[in-house]
Amino acid sequence: MQQSVIAIKGIGEETAEALREMGIVTIEDLLNHFPFRYEDYRVCNLEEAKHDEKITVTGKIYSEPSLTYYSRKKSRLVFRVLVDRYLITAVCFNRPYLKNKLSLHDTITITGKWDQHRQTITVQELKIGTMIAKKEIEPVYSTRGEITVKGMRRFISLALQQYSDSIVDPLPLSIRQKYRLLSKKEALRAIHLPLSHEQLKQARRRLVYEEFLLFQLKMQALRKFQREHSAGISHSFSTEKLQAFIDSLPFPLTNAQKRVVHEILEDMKSPYRMNRLLQGDVGSGKTVVAAIVLYAAYLSGYQGALMVPTEILAEQHAQSLKQLLQPMNVSVELLTSSVKGKKRKELLEQLASGSVDIVIGTHALIQDDVNFHKLGLVITDEQHRFGVEQRRILREKGQSPDVLFMTATPIPRTLAITVFGEMDVSIIDEMPKGRKKIETYWVKHDMLERVLNFIAKEVEKGRQAYVICPLIEESEKLDVQNAIDVHSMLTHYYKGKYRIGLMHGRLSAEEKERVMRAFSANEIQILVSTTVVEVGVNVPNATVMVIYDADRFGLAQLHQLRGRVGRGSEQSYCILVADPKSETGKERMRIMTETNDGFVLSEKDLQLRGPGDFFGTKQSGMPEFRLGDVVHDYRILEVARDDAAKLIQSTAFWRDDEYALLRSYLEQSGVLHGEKLD
Ligand code: ADP
Ligand code: MG
Repeated sequence: MQQSVIAIKGIGEETAEALREMGIVTIEDLLNHFPFRYEDYRVCNLEEAKHDEKITVTGKIYSEPSLTYYSRKKSRLVFRVLVDRYLITAVCFNRPYLKNKLSLHDTITITGKWDQHRQTITVQELKIGTMIAKKEIEPVYSTRGEITVKGMRRFISLALQQYSDSIVDPLPLSIRQKYRLLSKKEALRAIHLPLSHEQLKQARRRLVYEEFLLFQLKMQALRKFQREHSAGISHSFSTEKLQAFIDSLPFPLTNAQKRVVHEILEDMKSPYRMNRLLQGDVGSGKTVVAAIVLYAAYLSGYQGALMVPTEILAEQHAQSLKQLLQPMNVSVELLTSSVKGKKRKELLEQLASGSVDIVIGTHALIQDDVNFHKLGLVITDEQHRFGVEQRRILREKGQSPDVLFMTATPIPRTLAITVFGEMDVSIIDEMPKGRKKIETYWVKHDMLERVLNFIAKEVEKGRQAYVICPLIEESEKLDVQNAIDVHSMLTHYYKGKYRIGLMHGRLSAEEKERVMRAFSANEIQILVSTTVVEVGVNVPNATVMVIYDADRFGLAQLHQLRGRVGRGSEQSYCILVADPKSETGKERMRIMTETNDGFVLSEKDLQLRGPGDFFGTKQSGMPEFRLGDVVHDYRILEVARDDAAKLIQSTAFWRDDEYALLRSYLEQSGVLHGEKLD
């Protein structure tokens, strides 16, 4: 299998060179060059044929073919064909010679595009008789340079003919039997030369499982390796004191909060370095969880740091953590780029000497001159907004501190187990009691006046509203202009009755700060803003969220924005103003009105946008699979993940012969020596 393709009889130097250009060097590479689609020549039942689809039917010629020329080289041959009990029309372009070959009542098999409305097939292939000489399902390969699809088919079938017996199966028989999987040899044959759709399906199932299993084994082995080779801190703290703190909170924890707190604390107590992702929908109460585990770190004699992406968020977190923790004599401080001069110098000294216990901040935390006395726990909020590098710098400010990543962007399970496969994941999947569902409406732009009157009604009741402005791709400048325009439109419309604030990315940190404070204090009733308010902002008195051109936003982002309301006890509303043109745009609006559940939304978002786009960045770390599709094959992915986790933990895996090939795969991939995955 590792031999060069040149070993195949029928492949010479030139072909081998052309294949090499495509990255195909060994026989194994060739057999792993899977078709990206198939041509289907199976005879179909006309009743099942869909408009515009390519179909193959067998029938009898029912009218004398009539030939029309409409230029010297262009011609059209038309005749009627009786297929079962349907009389349809067949059209062949530019093949005048067929006229003499076809006679009335001949049986023919034709393949072509089906026009349902005209009951017509535009013939691409025609064969006299019922027999089809071709394979019913033919693979189509991506090719480059000299190599044609036909050529590729031939090379692969030569390889299968001559080398099938050398195909070894990395999957042990026990696993294959458990899931009734084809052998590797059968699967490779069937994926390239399928005899039926069922066989193709089985081949895919088998190969996708193998692909996912190998990937997950790598992830799980890496995780095991990281645990065993990265001595971390064994936090030890008084459970009574921690419980006393939990009991002092103004509300009981939800069961989900209790569970994740337990998971995190167990991890902190263990001698391994924690590497954990905490997911929880907007408003599910992650901040309290952060406070509890930071307090645990404090009780065990360590400092803690919480890094967030924006100043406003840092402010808010600092405020709530101070409120919660200062009564326990924990000193909590804020470090952002607005903290300057003497104040900053003092704070840095306190961090270095250990007299400040917990610090909350932005990127300012990872400046060179920030040093900790004894940093034992690092938490980042909205983790996907920080690059890998920034997280590493913060982590390295301590001696193997435990690390917790918090995110309010519910990451679909499917992505979480691929992208974060080497991390432990805790999920808060329950909302605090008594939350009212945010009522969500989708209206067209021509209903704007009613929306504005609705805002006025809520404001008259003492509530507040956000108006989020249209988003313009890649252009912060235009976004800002939009916000300014909407702001003046509203000022004009309400004739100065309400105070209307304006917030966008071009304001300085102090200006933003001032606007946010004013909104928090209800000195501003309506806040016009770009998406800068997306993350974390907490103003419980705000009950209306209006989003302009909502169809320009992704579902995850709409959900984040909607999460800015519904934070108090009053009924809240989200109004999506949009005239979407595309079907997916409309679909997104409908989904938003139907569910408040972030996880449901994120799964839908993934389905609508595909995994590549989900995080909106190239550095999302999504692995590319040859065959597997994390959305459509997610069941297989989950099974493979569980199997991989069990295998890696078992002694049999590291000992028995049947796993030798899987082990050697791990050996080759380098994870057993602590090399990074990518
Ligand atoms: P998140 O950061 O997950 O979006 P927060 O931590 O900001 O959510 O919590 C949202 C609100 O819910 C806060 O006002 C918080 O005090 C409150 N809260 C958190 N946990 C509970 C709970 N168990 N019961 C009631 N309210 C809670
Ligand atoms: Mg939060």
